[in-house]
Amino acid sequence: MSLGFIFGLSFLTLDYFLGERGLSSPDIFTRFIANQSFVISMLLATFFTSMRPFLSLYGVLVCLNLGLSSLFVTTIGQARGIGVPYAGFLVLTFYTFFFVGLRFWPALLTSASIFLAVIAVPVLREVPFAALLYNGAFLLFSNVIGATGLYNIEYNRRKSFLEALELQKLAGSDPLTGLANRGTFTTHLDRTWRHGKRSGDALTVAMVDVDHFKKYNDRYGHQAGDRVLQRIAALVADIGNRLLDLAGRYGGEEFVLVLPGCSLAHARERLQNLRRDVEDLDIEHADSDLGGKVTVSAGIAQVCPQETERSADGLVQMADQALYSAKQQGRNRVVIAAEDPELQTGIFRFEDLRVSG
Ligand code: GH3
Ligand code: MG
Ligand code: MG
Repeated sequence: MSLGFIFGLSFLTLDYFLGERGLSSPDIFTRFIANQSFVISMLLATFFTSMRPFLSLYGVLVCLNLGLSSLFVTTIGQARGIGVPYAGFLVLTFYTFFFVGLRFWPALLTSASIFLAVIAVPVLREVPFAALLYNGAFLLFSNVIGATGLYNIEYNRRKSFLEALELQKLAGSDPLTGLANRGTFTTHLDRTWRHGKRSGDALTVAMVDVDHFKKYNDRYGHQAGDRVLQRIAALVADIGNRLLDLAGRYGGEEFVLVLPGCSLAHARERLQNLRRDVEDLDIEHADSDLGGKVTVSAGIAQVCPQETERSADGLVQMADQALYSAKQQGRNRVVIAAEDPELQTGIFRFEDLRVSG
């Protein structure tokens, strides 16, 4: 916009000093106001974030205003027999496509409207056909160049935007299962923990581990094992699908769920559903003593970040201990940290875990 302002000022200055006599009417000051008032107000508007939603519309108005006021001056000039250069409209075409920051369609429609007006007025005034054709062709070509250029720019801009999103997604997810990876889990857990510190909400974490998975790999092969992990991951994703939930792959055949604002009873119900759903997949596991099919065990822990000396790591360790306890009790079950008498003795306070870990 600043450059646009400087351009406009330069043209007026040129007209003032070099222009043929007669061009000062309408006088240069009126032209300055007519031409530049929109440019200046848009320039000012760019400084206010609240004006951002209107900048595109503003840009259209700026270009239409420049087009119409220039057309007015050229028409008056021609009527007075002054050869006013049409080249100004070529500059305006590029200005519309590349300078005001318009998207492709608004820019094209704006520039096409100006083009039509610039052709229509001389037609009505019966300007010689050759001159009309000549000027029209130049303007048409500059429009084609502007439109092609802006289309390419916009295409590449959108493409790199999507690529950046895709990269971000890839960097934060586990390639085998598509679940959040360890890094995303840690970040999410930290964020929800800090939120819990402020709000007083409880935070629940569940760890899920496939039972006897080493034996499964040994018998059915690693690739079959990978497919099992993918199918279980899909169920884990279904369980942790609320707005602030996170379903992740903790590592190996272990999954993790962060369930903010979820009651312990409801968390247990959700994890029980997951355990049952995995059973219902009915994946043969001849070397498992748990009904001959693939099963999972889960450990759940819940704390109020505001009321505890534990850290988010401590919460994960609690869930992990509950999972360990589920394994000890025979697998294919869900254990809640607080319900285990051993876990209530206080040995799972964060400091103690540090010492034992
Ligand atoms: P438990 O019931 O006590 O959990 O026994 P487990 O055999 O499942 O546990 P263990 O930790 O001994 O073995 C985990 C196995 O998970 C070992 C490894 O071969 C397998 N595993 C870890 N990551 C992957 C993976 O990405 N793909 C496959 N196919 N197997 C994996
Ligand atoms: Mg396991
Ligand atoms: Mg494991």
